[in-house]
Amino acid sequence: MNIVPEVAALVPDMRTWRHHLHAHPETAFEEAATSAFVAEKLRSFGLEVHTGLAKTGVVGVLRGRGNGDAIGLRADLDALHIHERSGVAHASRHDGRMHACGHDGHTTMLLGAAAALARKRHLDGSVCFIFQPAEENEGGGRVMVQEGLFDRFPMRAVYGMHNWPRKPLGTFAMRVGPLMGAYDIFEIVATGKGAHAAMPYAGKDPMLFAAHAINALQTIVARNLHPLDAGVVTVTQVHGGDTWNVIPQEVVLRGTVRAFKREVQDLIEERMQGIVAGVAATFDMTATLRYERRYPATVNAAVETQHAIAAAAAVVGAEHVDTDPVPEMTGEDFAFMLQARPGCYVWLGAGVGPDTPNIHSPQYDFNDDALPIGASYWVRLAEQQVGSGA
Ligand SMILES: [Zn+2]
Ligand SMILES: [Zn+2]
Repeated sequence: MNIVPEVAALVPDMRTWRHHLHAHPETAFEEAATSAFVAEKLRSFGLEVHTGLAKTGVVGVLRGRGNGDAIGLRADLDALHIHERSGVAHASRHDGRMHACGHDGHTTMLLGAAAALARKRHLDGSVCFIFQPAEENEGGGRVMVQEGLFDRFPMRAVYGMHNWPRKPLGTFAMRVGPLMGAYDIFEIVATGKGAHAAMPYAGKDPMLFAAHAINALQTIVARNLHPLDAGVVTVTQVHGGDTWNVIPQEVVLRGTVRAFKREVQDLIEERMQGIVAGVAATFDMTATLRYERRYPATVNAAVETQHAIAAAAAVVGAEHVDTDPVPEMTGEDFAFMLQARPGCYVWLGAGVGPDTPNIHSPQYDFNDDALPIGASYWVRLAEQQVGSGA
C-alpha cells in the first residue's frame, strides 16, 4: 500500500471530519450545513470556492501554474431517509436520516485530497473538486450539469468514486463501458369497477389485473430480451383495497427498471405498454403506464479508465485492481457527468469480510480505513493527469 505522505498526515483530521458529517446527515438539496462545512474547509486549504450550484453543491478549484488543462473529481454530499442502527459513537443525531451510502466518506476523501494537493502545490493544470447534492433519487448531478457545471468550469475529464463494501478493503474495481445500470421508474394504475366482495359479477376486479400483470411483466426479461443483454423489472409496491369485503375500484403498481443499454430500456418500456394494455383488455378494464427515465447507465470511457487503473495501481498495487468486475444494476447520477465529459467511475473496496453491512443498510458505517486509500487515489490521479511530473 502506497499512501501519499501528505494524505497519511491528514488521517486524524479526515476521521474527525467524517464522523462529524456522519453524525449530521442531510438529504437531497437540503445539505446546507454539509455544504457550508465543505466550503469552509476548501477555503482554509486556500482553494477558490464556488457555492450554490444546484442549491447546495460546491466546487473548489485548485488553480495550476498555467497550461489551462483541468480535470474534475466528484464526491456526493447527501444522506438517506433511514433510521440508523449502526451503534457507532458518531451515529446520526438527525432522527430518520443516515449516511448509509458512505457519502460522508466520499466527501471526506475528496476534502483530504484537496488539502493534500493544496499543500503540494505542484500542478500545471487545475483540479475542480465537485461536491454534488442529491445523488440519491433526486439527480443533483443532473441539475449541476444542466446549470452549466462544465461551461463554468471547463474540464477535460471527470472522475467519480464509490465505496463498495462487497469488495475487499485495499482493492479497486473499474471497467471500460457500463459499470452501473440505468435507473427508470414506473407507475401502473388499473381502474376497474368497485363492488361488494360477495358480488364480484357486479364489478371489475383490479386485483386480477395486479396478479396477472406482475407475472406477465416478468416475461419481458425472460422472453423478450436477448439472453446476453441485461435487464431488471421489479415491482416494489402494490396498493389497493381498504377492507375485507370490498373489491376496490383501483390498484396501483409501482417499481423500477434497470438496464445497461438505451435499446433495452426502449424494449422494456414498449413491452410494458403492451402487457399493461393487454392484461387490462383481458379483464375489461383500463390501465395506464407512466414510465420515467431517471438516471442513464454509468458508462466509463476507454482512455480515462486506463488513467484510473494506473492511479489505483499506484496506491494499492496492480494485483489489487480488478479491471473487469461484474457490473451492478444500482443507479448513479454521476452518469449525467459521464454523458457530458469522458471519465471513469470506480469502486473503492471497503469490505472486511462477508458480514460487512452493505450500503443502504441501517447497520452500515463507512470504513475509515478506506479514507487514506481513496484520498491517495485522487491525489495520484490528479498528479498523473495535470501534474508537472515534478
Ligand atoms: Zn446510495
Ligand atoms: Zn451512494
